[in-house]
Amino acid sequence: MGGLAFLVAWHKRAAIESCLSNAKVPVYAVGSADYTQAIKPFNYRVTFNPAAYAVPATVEHVQAAVKCGADNKIQVTAKSGGHSYASHGLGGEDGHLIVDMKNFKDVKVDIAAQMAVIGTGGRLGDVATALYNQGKQAISHGTCPGVGVGGLTLHGGYGLISRSKGLTLDNLLEATVVLANSSVVTASATQNPDLFWALRGAGAAFGIVTNFKFKTFTAPENNLVFQYFISPNSASQLAAILTAIQDFTRNAQPPELNMRLFLSAFTTFSGVYYGSRADFDKVMNPLLTNMGIGGGFAQVTQNSWLNTLTSFSNGPLQQATPYDTHETFFSKSLMPSYLSPAAIDALSQYWYNNARNNQRSWYLLFDSHGGNSSAISEVPADSTSYAHRNATFKMQFYDRVNSGNYDSTWMPFLNGWVKAITDKMPEEKFGMYINYADTSLSKEEAHEKYWLGNYKRLVAIKERVDPGKVFEGPQIVGS
Ligand SMILES: Cc1cc2nc3c(=O)[nH]c(=O)nc-3n(C[C@H](O)[C@H](O)[C@H](O)COP(=O)(O)OP(=O)(O)OC[C@H]3O[C@@H](n4cnc5c(N)ncnc54)[C@H](O)[C@@H]3O)c2cc1C
Repeated sequence: MGGLAFLVAWHKRAAIESCLSNAKVPVYAVGSADYTQAIKPFNYRVTFNPAAYAVPATVEHVQAAVKCGADNKIQVTAKSGGHSYASHGLGGEDGHLIVDMKNFKDVKVDIAAQMAVIGTGGRLGDVATALYNQGKQAISHGTCPGVGVGGLTLHGGYGLISRSKGLTLDNLLEATVVLANSSVVTASATQNPDLFWALRGAGAAFGIVTNFKFKTFTAPENNLVFQYFISPNSASQLAAILTAIQDFTRNAQPPELNMRLFLSAFTTFSGVYYGSRADFDKVMNPLLTNMGIGGGFAQVTQNSWLNTLTSFSNGPLQQATPYDTHETFFSKSLMPSYLSPAAIDALSQYWYNNARNNQRSWYLLFDSHGGNSSAISEVPADSTSYAHRNATFKMQFYDRVNSGNYDSTWMPFLNGWVKAITDKMPEEKFGMYINYADTSLSKEEAHEKYWLGNYKRLVAIKERVDPGKVFEGPQIVGS
């Protein structure tokens, strides 16, 4: 940083610190042990230095923090679980005022109404446990228990009951939001419906949500968790497996079946079936035959709801404080409506010729997302700003190192894999999932890929509710 830029940054930091202090907003002082811990991102590859770090305990504190940011022309960023792949919860760039929602983690169930009010700072494992402990309730959400319910919900929220119950944002009834002008409003289907539409897919750009009201469902028990261990040994074998899964997901996958193919050094086909073993076999056996893995090694076990979640959580549901789990990686996504035979072939060739030789800890995850009977695809495309209703798969490309830094010269590995696929389908508008934020996208690419045809309407709403761009970031709406 040059001398003048340093001086400007120093003055801004002093001004925001003094404003927060006068307004009695709790903070982690820059340089303190709490601050140093709190700015550790989930993805160690992408680190930032905020201008100030607020830790509000009340909605009034959030309002005061937003006002301090706006008055001092410092961009304001909400952070919930801090799991953004691009560290968007730390601003996605240096110099933001971070508003950490960690104190907003109450979960209150209204069992008669099957509704729950959930603070946005909670982590999924804790939220799921609290919902279950209050009348065995549940919502649809992602698999990693450390992810924040705030970022997950405001940009999607896919997990192993989403094909049955919809995305997390599909179950949202209401949100309490602090806007850029520091007022507090409710967003719902009947109050501020445009804002409610924008929050469900692009939330970070529109305000700080302090709590959500969700509709809940009674947690299903006796769920069949399945995992098949498979080892494709040629590009054509992988292509056959993917073709079979795609055909099945689009045309024959029942809503009670949720599944994913995890392609890696060890490949698994896994998921959850919410039904009986006899029905599961009836549904699954023809698919396994078409995939050519009828005789593969399998595990199928019956699980309670919390054990079902734990089966996919890589650890206990309840999360330690302070949260201190991190990885170092680069990631991309694709949300294709369909993969043509040529695209599947290119994907499989790339796997055979490039990925298999990569010694880092990479994977490509295919989540069955859409298709004829998916609860996600049944939601009308224009009813939320989430733009991927017709995506058959949610594909996540992930390349990680288990120690040391991730060298930027490795990024072409995943960029090349995505290009190999998209080059074969020039007519397809491939969407990408902002919850798997991709740091290699320019802001224009990010806007187009994350929000497709919804972007224009989002910008119009942004201009109305945040004309001064108090909530900014390198990839969010209006940036
Ligand atoms: C290990 C891991 C597993 C994952 N598994 C899944 C999965 O199974 N399914 C899935 O769909 N996704 C999954 N994700 C992606 C995850 O949903 C996103 O990274 C999500 O945005 C993280 O939310 P967060 O609150 O933890 O992150 P943060 O970094 O805190 O926030 C992410 C974004 O949301 C904004 N934001 C957060 N809280 C608020 C708020 N209260 N008001 C306004 N804006 C806010 C932030 O400003 C930022 O732009 C996973 C991520 C990781 C790292």
